[in-house]
Amino acid sequence: MLDPLRILQRCDALARHSELKDGLTRVFLSAEQKQANALVLGWMREAGMRADVDAIGNVAGRYEGERPGLPCLMLGSHLDTVRDAGRYDGMLGVITAIECVHALNAAGRRLPFAVEVLGFGDEEGVRFGTTLLGSRAVAGTFDAKTLQAVDAAGTTLEQALRDFGLDPARIPAVARRKGEVLAYAELHIEQGPVLEAEELPVGVVTAINGYSRYAVSLTGVAGHAGTVPMRLRRDALAGAAECALAVERVASALPEVVGTVGWLQTKPGAINVIPGEVHFTLDLRAPKDELRLAALAELRAAFEGIAAARALVLTMRELQSFGVTPCAERLMAQLDAAVAAEGLKPRRLPSGAGHDGMAMQAVADVCMLFVRCKHGISHNPAESITAEDAATGARVLMNFIEKFKP
Ligand SMILES: [Zn+2]
Repeated sequence: MLDPLRILQRCDALARHSELKDGLTRVFLSAEQKQANALVLGWMREAGMRADVDAIGNVAGRYEGERPGLPCLMLGSHLDTVRDAGRYDGMLGVITAIECVHALNAAGRRLPFAVEVLGFGDEEGVRFGTTLLGSRAVAGTFDAKTLQAVDAAGTTLEQALRDFGLDPARIPAVARRKGEVLAYAELHIEQGPVLEAEELPVGVVTAINGYSRYAVSLTGVAGHAGTVPMRLRRDALAGAAECALAVERVASALPEVVGTVGWLQTKPGAINVIPGEVHFTLDLRAPKDELRLAALAELRAAFEGIAAARALVLTMRELQSFGVTPCAERLMAQLDAAVAAEGLKPRRLPSGAGHDGMAMQAVADVCMLFVRCKHGISHNPAESITAEDAATGARVLMNFIEKFKP
């Protein structure tokens, strides 16, 4: 029997492991993550799984099929959060998957495949500025160079892993081979308003949008805010402001492209000094790679034009890019059937946010089930779902697992 109340209670229990007193922030390889991992490990074992923390800090549980050693259907999501986060983004998928295995185990059921549940240690990338570290290790695409990435305190990922009690040399062994994972399926809150607007509790994801992230700098000349005439200025912030407007204009003109300047820093950063240097980020996403690359090319040209006109020096450094991750048609069809079995209209929609499936596609076909969230709000303490929707999501996932055909 699925227990939807327990799902929500466990989301609450995990939310208590936070570096914030009044709110939720739990970053990769933190003391709070250690506590959260211990809770999840306990729940996995209680649900009849063999479970452990792997070399990158993921919690990994396995429920054997009809006989030991069968390839698995992998379920999962992430256990890290953004800063001042909600309690369902990531955690709901891990906890619901454990709940489904719990129900299988309670009924003494074994399937013709194993079921594994992964609670990925890093999806959001808050601490080291690079996302999907947990799922990339599992998918076999973890780049050893990333071990030298540093957090805000100057600690390398390698050191943070050691401080957490893990051995970075064992990360390659976390990787699964093709064939060991029959499919990767993730339940996640929608993080958008589409399902709520259509009064549907769940939706089936068609693809995870691709994205490009850049660090952009403009350098001009800092000067006295009182003495330098306007026509003789090389104001880096005025140039950056034009760039931000170009992002808005270019993204708005292309269907389904979204572009954001989410962070900006001026130097020297004083009320009476013309900004000589500005650093900002660009985040560009689209459901089609051609569209995203077209937008990127247009923006690059626009930024160059703005810099040239203002005699500023422009640099653009790619931080991370990911192509579109399509969900497998055969898996979407199985999810559709599981949704229909609840008497609901199957609704397909793309994901504007990134997810662990982007990394997992390197080792297996992926699919995702979205659960409606209140007003589409996420990455925010106001993130909220109803008990009914949590229950519906769990039943659909359970039905999908029970009828799963590789
Ligand atoms: Zn998430």
